[in-house]
Amino acid sequence: MEFKPANNIQDLQYFGEFGGVNPSVSDSSTYTFLSAKTMFDTFEGNTDGCYLYSRHSSPSNLYLGEALAAMEGTETANVTASGMGAITPTILQICGAGDHIVSSRTIYGGTYAFLKNFTPRMNIQTSFVDITKLDAVEKAINSNTKMIYCESVSNPLLEVADIKGLAKLAKKHNLKLVVDNTFSPLSISPVQLGADVVIHSLTKFINGNSDTMGGVVCGTSDFVNSQKSVIDGASMLLGASMDSMRSASILKNMRTLHLRMKQHSKNAMYLAQKFEAVGLKTVYPGLTSHPSHAIFKEMMNKEYGFGGMLTIDAGSLEKANLLMELMQGRNIGYLAVSLGFYKTLFSAPGTSTSSEIPLDEQKEMGLTDGLIRFSIGLDNDIERTYEIIKECMLEIGVL
Ligand SMILES: *Cc1c(COP(=O)(O)O)cnc(C)c1O
Repeated sequence: MEFKPANNIQDLQYFGEFGGVNPSVSDSSTYTFLSAKTMFDTFEGNTDGCYLYSRHSSPSNLYLGEALAAMEGTETANVTASGMGAITPTILQICGAGDHIVSSRTIYGGTYAFLKNFTPRMNIQTSFVDITKLDAVEKAINSNTKMIYCESVSNPLLEVADIKGLAKLAKKHNLKLVVDNTFSPLSISPVQLGADVVIHSLTKFINGNSDTMGGVVCGTSDFVNSQKSVIDGASMLLGASMDSMRSASILKNMRTLHLRMKQHSKNAMYLAQKFEAVGLKTVYPGLTSHPSHAIFKEMMNKEYGFGGMLTIDAGSLEKANLLMELMQGRNIGYLAVSLGFYKTLFSAPGTSTSSEIPLDEQKEMGLTDGLIRFSIGLDNDIERTYEIIKECMLEIGVL
C-alpha cells in the first residue's frame, strides 16, 4: 500500500487536559511522584506513563515526536533542541572510539565539521565519498565501519542519495544507515526505503516559520530509547533537549506542512524550468537534466513534488553577491541562510553554510564561487516573481 505521510499525521488525535482541541503545553521541568517507589522504578527505566524530568521527555515533546514518527513511519521519535542536537548524539550513540563512518562528502556544513574536525578527537574516523556512487561507498567500508551517513537531498549541491541501494549495502555489512531528510520532508520517506534512522532539522521546512530551532531522530523504540537512557544515552547526557513551549508551537505549524511543501515544490519547479530555459546552469531534482532525477522520482511520494531547493550559477562570487543584494532590494526574498521560510531565502554556500569545507575540497565537489542556493518561498504569484528576478539578472549581467 502506498505510504501516506500527511494522512498519518492527520490521523493522530490528542485533546488538551480540559478537552481543548490542542494538547495542553507541559509547563514544567520536573514531575511529582505519588510514591517514592515509582520514582525509583522510573529511574530504572520503567518509565511507562511516568515523566521524570524534562531533559528526558515531556508530554509536549512526546506529542511532537509522535507526529514526526507518524510522518516517517517509524516506531517512535525523540525531539531535540536543534538539528545538530539530533545529529551529534545519533552519531555518538552508534559510534565510539575506534569506529569508522562512511559519509557523503556533500552534507550540511555543521555535520561535515563535526565528522571532520570533532569526532577524530574521540578516535572516530570518517571517509567522505561521492554518495551517488554505490561502488565507492562499498569500497570505503572496512571492518570498523558502523554507519553510512547521508542526506536524502544533499546540501548544498542537491545530490540525491539512492536510499534503497545504500540500505542494501548497510544490511549486507551490518551497518546502520542514517539519513538526514531535512531538505525533503513528506517527499521522501527514508525508512520506507530501508534506512534505519531518519533525522530532521525542524528549524527548516517542518516548522516553516524561521522562529525557532529544533531537531528530531526517528527510529525504532530500541534505538530512540537507548539515546534517552539516563545511564548512557547520548541525547539524555549531552542535553540538547527541546523546550516544551517550542515543541507545542512546532506541532501546530506541522499541520500545514503538506500544503506548504506542495507550494514550495510547485514554485521551485516553475523557476527551475524558467532559469534553465534562459540558459542558466540550474540544479533542481525535478529537472530531467538532474543526474539523479530518475532516482528521486522513483523514491518520492509523488504529490509533494521535488522540494523547494534549487541552485543556479551566477558565474562569479561578485555577480552572485550583486544579484542577491538586488533581489533583496526588490523584495524577492532575503539574503539569509536557512530554508523552508514563506519568503524565498538565498545565499552563496561557498562563503556561508559550506564555509567549513576547505576551498580545494569545495572545488572538487563542484561547489563553485558563483553558486546561489535558493529556498523558494510560498509566493502566490510565482510568474510575477520570475519576471522581477529576470530583470535583476539582466541588470547585473547574469543573463
Ligand atoms: C540546518 C541543517 C542542519 C542543522 O540543523 P540546525 O537546526 O541548524 O541545528 C542539519 N542538516 C541539514 C540538511 C540542514 O539544512
